[in-house]
Amino acid sequence: MKKITCPYCGYTSEPKDFLYIYESVLYLRNHEVVPEERERPVLIICPRCKKGFFLESPYQKLLEKLYSS
Ligand SMILES: [Zn+2]
Repeated sequence: MKKITCPYCGYTSEPKDFLYIYESVLYLRNHEVVPEERERPVLIICPRCKKGFFLESPYQKLLEKLYSS
């Protein structure tokens, strides 16, 4: 399994050890809330320094799998 390295503190571990936050942005259109249409980036939270960073694309598909399982 690929490992992820925090760009701030250098913490390296398996993807399951990190926290993930999807941006939940909604738009108002004609007074109705509609889901965002673009792909949402996944914000990774480092368990050591608690800083958030965005995932590099090679990990994106892997994490989508983990997140939805
Ligand atoms: Zn870190």
